[in-house]
Amino acid sequence: MSELSALVSELLRDVDAYTVPSPADRDARAKLDANESPFPLPPEIRAELARHLAAAEIHRYPDPAHHDLRALVAGELEIAPGRLAFGHGSNELVVQLCQAYSRPRDGAARAAVLYPAPSFVYYRSAALAAGVEPFEVDLTPDFQLDIDMLARGIANHRPNIIFFARPNNPTGTLWSRDAIEQTITDHPDTMIVVDEAYIEFGGDSFVDLLPALPNLVLLRTFSKVGLAGLRIGYLAASPDIVGEIGKVCPPYNIGILNQLAAEYLLANHRDLLLLRATAVAAERDRLFDSLSEMAHLTVYESAANMLLICLADAEHVWRELGTRGIRVRRFPGHKRLDPYIRVTVGTPEENALFLDALQEILG
Ligand code: PMP
Repeated sequence: MSELSALVSELLRDVDAYTVPSPADRDARAKLDANESPFPLPPEIRAELARHLAAAEIHRYPDPAHHDLRALVAGELEIAPGRLAFGHGSNELVVQLCQAYSRPRDGAARAAVLYPAPSFVYYRSAALAAGVEPFEVDLTPDFQLDIDMLARGIANHRPNIIFFARPNNPTGTLWSRDAIEQTITDHPDTMIVVDEAYIEFGGDSFVDLLPALPNLVLLRTFSKVGLAGLRIGYLAASPDIVGEIGKVCPPYNIGILNQLAAEYLLANHRDLLLLRATAVAAERDRLFDSLSEMAHLTVYESAANMLLICLADAEHVWRELGTRGIRVRRFPGHKRLDPYIRVTVGTPEENALFLDALQEILG
């Protein structure tokens, strides 16, 4: 152990880095493990995009204020541009929120954040990276919000921030709007982040509540609708919150090619991206119906682009799928998720491959 290891943040000491486990077979026939869109851009749009990007002035820093992208997104959400902050993926914004709002409450040694679990695993890593303590509140057995547990968790841990992923990852559940709205109004001194990473696949947005609720933060991403490689996410919140995030955001956090590509695709091909998300949602429902008819598993209804499946031996099924070139997600180290695999909805062909393989493995 090097002498420097004593200097690592004590919150990080026993933590593993965020990794996506992948089985030995790397030549995936169906990559269904990362909640991405299964659809590449059509060749003619790629060619247009390449021409557009050729004009980028890459000897200059990119626009630090993301002006054009900001105007596009503000127009889409019908909010003032000053209510937006952009991140290198919405992941980055999760960390920045934890960093900026990290002052311990009176009498507490550390600031706390809280979220229902199982949920997006990065909330925990982000909190630890920012030096704040993460607390989890168990969901009910069918992965809905447990209102009493939530109230107790808030009272006990007095979090600065609560993260609600809606729809949730990895369960796909769409938690009660009323319960979350009540939490926002009951706790005006707590930041409530409604993470709408999967909103294009189902559910109603909280965007209409932004003007009335200054402690509400919406988190969004372009990653799930076909632009995961661009690494761009954003939050919508009060201008005060956006101002604080501006203090922890690294300068020029989004590269010029990424900004230009996102602007170009949103301005010219937004309809295609949304149409494809609708196709994924329809395909999810078909996949759900097929899985519901299979023996030896339980599948949960989902409003996102993934399905969570409970199995007698999830590790075995995951490995066997891997050897057939089908990658799905497991959650090693997350005790409650041990009997599960998560499958991202793919193209109809990929989903058929997955279903056939699963049928064969389960016998
Ligand atoms: N929020 C949730 C709930 C997610 O599942 C993810 C990605 N898996 C993210 C945020 C982060 O997305 P990105 O950093 O790609 O914008």
